[in-house]
Amino acid sequence: MVIFFGPPGAGKSVQGQLLAARHGWRWLSTGQLLRDAKSLELQEIMTRGDFVSDKKINDVIDQALSLADSIDDVVLDGYPRKIEQAQWLLDNLPRHNRKITIVIFLNVSNEVIFQRLRIRGRADDSEGSIAKRSEEYSEKTEPVMEYLSAKGIDVLKVDGEGSVGTVHDRVEKALQSCIQK
Ligand code: AMP
Repeated sequence: MVIFFGPPGAGKSVQGQLLAARHGWRWLSTGQLLRDAKSLELQEIMTRGDFVSDKKINDVIDQALSLADSIDDVVLDGYPRKIEQAQWLLDNLPRHNRKITIVIFLNVSNEVIFQRLRIRGRADDSEGSIAKRSEEYSEKTEPVMEYLSAKGIDVLKVDGEGSVGTVHDRVEKALQSCIQK
């Protein structure tokens, strides 16, 4: 399992999909799974930039991992976003016969992030929601990297600036360095 980390707008989804497509793996984005659920209640939470409850999000990822049982590997994007979720993941991975190969942190400057979010134009990309999501990211999500690293998992920082292809090459290199260890 490969986990993509980074603030909203860092390019997790683009890079996650590309990596999964290249290797024949499944891309699992909790944000996309929640949007696909077409639930008004969930949409309201997302529009505000709030987090969906741990119970709901863990159920979503549990189901998605079950559906991916026959796929060689999976790429997680947008999960775990809290220590509690990371804990749940570590506790439940053995049940899904998976383990975390690498956590890739996409390092991107604030300037580039705002540029990318502006181009993307997703329904929940209002100024208020972006501010809320950035705040949640710094407070709750950033500490997850330390947590996973302390559990002995490889966390690699990758320069996320530049073209999609350039960043993808860096991601692939980071992954290979980890696999060959
Ligand atoms: P994303 O597509 O990753 O930017 O996620 C969009 C929205 O889905 C977030 O702003 C949250 O409202 C919700 N969401 C996605 N992943 C999670 C998660 N792991 N925990 C809580 N809420 C989540």
